[in-house]
Amino acid sequence: MSIRSIALQPYFPEDNIDKNLLTERLMQIFRISVVWRSPVRLPQTAFDTDRNQYLGSFFLKELLRLKKEDEILLGIVSKDLYEPGLNFVFGVASSLTKTAVISTYRLHNSFYGLLEDHSIFMDRVTKEAVHEIGHTLGLGHCPDPECVMHFSNSIEDTDRKSYYFCPSCYSKVLFSLGL
Ligand SMILES: [Zn+2]
Ligand SMILES: [Zn+2]
Repeated sequence: MSIRSIALQPYFPEDNIDKNLLTERLMQIFRISVVWRSPVRLPQTAFDTDRNQYLGSFFLKELLRLKKEDEILLGIVSKDLYEPGLNFVFGVASSLTKTAVISTYRLHNSFYGLLEDHSIFMDRVTKEAVHEIGHTLGLGHCPDPECVMHFSNSIEDTDRKSYYFCPSCYSKVLFSLGL
């Protein structure tokens, strides 16, 4: 089944995301339609009370139930995410289920004690969204530090890269979408 759209699934409580801007950017990059779902409640079973974080991979399974066959479904969470063995993750994705989730928790300047900047925040949201969608399409991490598929372990890594794929990664994206 070929992918015909990207669906975005926000979770309550919603962050201050410019949905039109994100839609525009994703459509420009992936050249397929982008649709927003109505926000849903956070799965409390994914919450770890000791860590005060949500288990990222839990969302992948839940999103699979909400996903249509011909789409990629990206969850957007304002809470902090983790994976076993990692202090936190910006996002998680599966190319098998074509589902992914990103957290906007650590994308705010205010998280780092800096003045909030909505344009920087939206650039980071775009980068994390494009990166995880890239993983759902089967792309791995890219050695090019400016490519959106470069691994990001800190906000500095995220800020260094663009929200675009390098030519090599982009050809893989277009191929996997049949474009
Ligand atoms: Zn990655
Ligand atoms: Zn690349």
